[in-house]
Amino acid sequence: MNDDFKFLKLDDVPGPTKEEVRCLVVCKSGVSNDDVVLEIGCGTGGLTSEFAKRAKKVYSIDKNPKAISLTSKNLKLQKLDKKVELIPGDALDVIDKIPKFDILMVGGSSGDLSQILKNGFSNLNENGRIIITAILLETRVDAIKSLQKLGLSPYIVDVSISRGKIIERGTMMYAQNPVAIIYAFKGK
Ligand code: SAH
Repeated sequence: MNDDFKFLKLDDVPGPTKEEVRCLVVCKSGVSNDDVVLEIGCGTGGLTSEFAKRAKKVYSIDKNPKAISLTSKNLKLQKLDKKVELIPGDALDVIDKIPKFDILMVGGSSGDLSQILKNGFSNLNENGRIIITAILLETRVDAIKSLQKLGLSPYIVDVSISRGKIIERGTMMYAQNPVAIIYAFKGK
């Protein structure tokens, strides 16, 4: 797992998803080198690079051109760019052009989560998995309801990480924003 500080960052591009959360996303996705991954919202490329290390192929969409170019730089730095096809555009406009995939990872949806999941579901292979990371409360609820509408049984974990920093008098814990990981398995 890459350290957060290894990524190039920009003020107006979110990410990378924090290392400990990336660990859980990768673990819950069960990604292997047989899998094709479609990621919506590459941001800084934090999750893109973790999937690229482990999957057969990754397609990653972002509507922000700065996120596409930042992710491209981060992938090149890690020599992972060959495995990833970066696709600029809004997910709703381009998702139907992606061939079949095994994992649908949604890290950004701008309020269109339900439609993104519906469109993505039809190209998700039979053993497919869907993973959504949510910062907003509303996205958590939207994710659960949308997955249920597709006939799936969603799981949700809410992750609150605190990192310790050694100071003179002891160890101070710094809390990170809680993030929810909502996931479901097709065919289960
Ligand atoms: N997981 C990333 C951070 C994701 S931030 C990392 O580890 O670096 C969320 C991203 O989703 C943003 O870059 C935003 O531009 C993108 N996004 C939001 N809605 C989108 C949509 N409808 N289509 C494509 N990209 C979208």
